[in-house]
Amino acid sequence: MLIGGQEVSSDIAPIISINPATGKENHRVAAAGPEEVNRAVLVATEASVNPSWRSMLPPQRARILGRIAELMERDSDAIANIQMMENGKVWRECAAQVKSAAATFRYYAAVCEVTGSDVTPPRGDYLSLVAHEPYGVIAAITPWNSPLTMEAQKVAPALAAGNAVVLKPSEITPSTALALGRIALEAGLPAGLLNVLPGTGVTGAELVSHPGVRMVSFTGGTDSGRRIAEVAARKLMPVALELGGKSPHIVFNDADLDAAAQAVAEGIFEGSGQSCVAGSRLFVQRGASERLVDKLVSIASALKVDLPDVKGAQMGPLASFPHRDRVAQMVEMALGDGAKILTGGMRPSAPALQAGAYYQPTIIGGIDNSARIAQQEIFGPVLCVLEFDDEEDLIRQANDTAFGLASGVWTADYRRAWRVARALQAGTVWINTYKQLSIATPFGGFKDSGLGREKGVNGMRLYQQPKGIYFGMTS
Ligand code: NAD
Repeated sequence: MLIGGQEVSSDIAPIISINPATGKENHRVAAAGPEEVNRAVLVATEASVNPSWRSMLPPQRARILGRIAELMERDSDAIANIQMMENGKVWRECAAQVKSAAATFRYYAAVCEVTGSDVTPPRGDYLSLVAHEPYGVIAAITPWNSPLTMEAQKVAPALAAGNAVVLKPSEITPSTALALGRIALEAGLPAGLLNVLPGTGVTGAELVSHPGVRMVSFTGGTDSGRRIAEVAARKLMPVALELGGKSPHIVFNDADLDAAAQAVAEGIFEGSGQSCVAGSRLFVQRGASERLVDKLVSIASALKVDLPDVKGAQMGPLASFPHRDRVAQMVEMALGDGAKILTGGMRPSAPALQAGAYYQPTIIGGIDNSARIAQQEIFGPVLCVLEFDDEEDLIRQANDTAFGLASGVWTADYRRAWRVARALQAGTVWINTYKQLSIATPFGGFKDSGLGREKGVNGMRLYQQPKGIYFGMTS
């Protein structure tokens, strides 16, 4: 792990990283116990109040963030390879995620330079302004599905805002965070400002409870997010929570069905469905249903499921064996509830894939929106097909979920697209496109999908607290 710029080990059992594509051990990584959590928070606290960091001018801070971006690009093949070995995503996606993480650092270097204090309109004989102060030590906790993307999305704005960070990556993917920590040191970030503590949820919980941590930025499951929010409530500490989803992908019968089918398939099967914004509930208007489902079944059954480093592989394994087994169990549960498998529903039979945590792209029909498989997050390559009659019926069903992260709408009628977009309870709505993501656009969830918004200019403000300062003008 990385504490105060030093590579440190511990005497608790290491994390054993398993390659889900092959079942073989990748490597072992030191795990943080309570002692290391305490040390990292103390070191981060000291670094956060060090005058050289507190008073560092925005262009100097931006230069370090920009240099981190350059070094990530220099090492992009190595980092993409680490991610691919740890979570099994296909090479193309891992490589694209490193580039996008570098772009996130570049974006927050720019945000850091162009945002400042605000002068408030005069209401008396004083001048008042708002300074934006860092919290001090931020705990950043990330999941395994897109580790580097999430790490960059938290670390870049938190540092740009003037904080120190203790980063706790997922136990499934500890190594991209370590690579980022080493790069930050090489880029000239003073030691102690980015500490990396691999460990399980127990380590994460210790970090969140530590009195020195003043804000938590978390991406992961809704249950874990709720537990973190309970601790934060006791500490009166702000939290940003990016949680689970069960996003509706909606197709009206006037839509371009070929384009919609392609997007629906990519929206659920890319990354083996292990995406918080996966369009896992397809709502298709009666009338277009049969044609769309036929297209989807042919796209899904032709997808190339393969080892993630094989050229042209479109879907790799799931990120771990227990997760694959959980996805399989959920499909079994759906069958028990009367669902029909339209394609997939099992492990692939190719001999080269037998040692890995693979599962076929799966489409499920014969259920309605109240079925457990349509309500619970699967986080795997499983699409539920649901039908609707008209706009009113659609809105009622699409919003009938605990989640509210993302949604997609396919229609040729822009007025309807607008009405539906406004009525959907979701933090992101895509119209005639899906899974386009921009670092400049706020991202987060309604309802059980989270609290707060990352990304965009306000993604830096998330890590600052405003302070009103008044200058008397009469004496
Ligand atoms: P998870 O909640 O099990 O773990 C996420 C991280 O939190 C890990 O680092 C884990 O060790 C840590 N953790 C677990 N319990 C904790 C606790 N009580 N206190 C502190 N830390 C704790 O989630 P996961 O299985 O790694 O990831 C999958 C989930 O993440 C899915 O639900 C998915 O939808 C969600 N996700 C959301 C987004 C988003 O932006 N909304 C993005 C990616 C993934």
